[in-house]
Amino acid sequence: MFNALIVNKDDEGKTSAAVEQIGVDDLPHGDVTVAVEYSTVNYKDGLCIGPGGGLVRNYPHVPGIDFAGTVEASDDDRYKPGDKVVLTGWRVGEAHWGGYAQKARVRADWLVPLPKGLDTRQAMAVGTAGFTAMLAVMALEDHGIKKGPVLVTGAAGGVGSVATAILANLGHQVAAVTGRPETADYLKSLGASQIVAREEINETTKRPLEGETWGGCVDAVGGAMLARVLGQMEYGASVAAVGLAGGAALPATVIPFLLRGVNLLGIDSVLQPYQNRLRAWERIASDLPMDKLEAMVQPATLGDLPGLGADILKGQVKGRVVVDVNA
Ligand code: NDP
Repeated sequence: MFNALIVNKDDEGKTSAAVEQIGVDDLPHGDVTVAVEYSTVNYKDGLCIGPGGGLVRNYPHVPGIDFAGTVEASDDDRYKPGDKVVLTGWRVGEAHWGGYAQKARVRADWLVPLPKGLDTRQAMAVGTAGFTAMLAVMALEDHGIKKGPVLVTGAAGGVGSVATAILANLGHQVAAVTGRPETADYLKSLGASQIVAREEINETTKRPLEGETWGGCVDAVGGAMLARVLGQMEYGASVAAVGLAGGAALPATVIPFLLRGVNLLGIDSVLQPYQNRLRAWERIASDLPMDKLEAMVQPATLGDLPGLGADILKGQVKGRVVVDVNA
């Protein structure tokens, strides 16, 4: 028997989450069983743990959209017991039981071997948020990062923190947008050269185009902030749109696309083909300074998760929450 965070829904639709003991036979089907070491808290996990539960298909449910650990049993030739692996995406933790348990059983196709240079804890300090930040940086590179600073929105959150550290390490000037002025020192320690107050960019304007300010943007916020940023991009620059922490509606005009050749690049971490995932994890191992990664980490246990799930939905989590499922 082993520990798992089980989320249940009662007849009145009310959800509850508690750490319980389950057995390997309770796990969903899959060809690889992993002894999970670490998982993390992402925005989607907050939704899966919380009362909305919108992403969860069936109850009881084990959330946790990512994990890293050691293969315990495998029916697939690509993995053998003892291999270190990492998983993000594929609706694990939403439609399939995820990483908030000491064991997980998944399809071999969803796994990636842990890249050299990362241990399982570091891999989860990165987690889905950091993996997505890397995909966003790679998308900006593919389209060319221009001269001006690269803007990162939702900078003190998970995606924003990792994007800031990677971009700064690659030699870019990073302007970090945050609604929490108290995180300025933290963001500077990750390499941000400029802190921009959230209100500055959130204010609406009737002008569809403003000064050409940003050479690229990783946007974790969406909504009014993304709409405003589009009109502040340099000619031909790109915005990698990652998230919607500030809302799903996009009150924008087509003018930045028509008159400035701005590119809006959608980033999806969930259904990335194997080769892309491998490439992104290898870039993480080479381009993300591990001391900066450590500065982002807030440790947690399975028992802390219900509270942390609520915090991340309120935008109150700083950096990356790493869950030691064996603590
Ligand atoms: P976090 O909660 O860690 O970070 C989000 C940050 O956005 C907050 O820390 C806050 O930053 C800012 N923020 C929150 N609410 C608002 C608001 N109302 N207006 C403006 N800014 C706000 O989440 P993650 O970084 O893990 O994820 C960010 C987004 O990316 C989420 O929407 C998530 O679902 C999405 N995502 C998408 C993925 C994909 O595959 N496309 C994968 C992973 C995440 P600050 O305090 O600095 O202002």
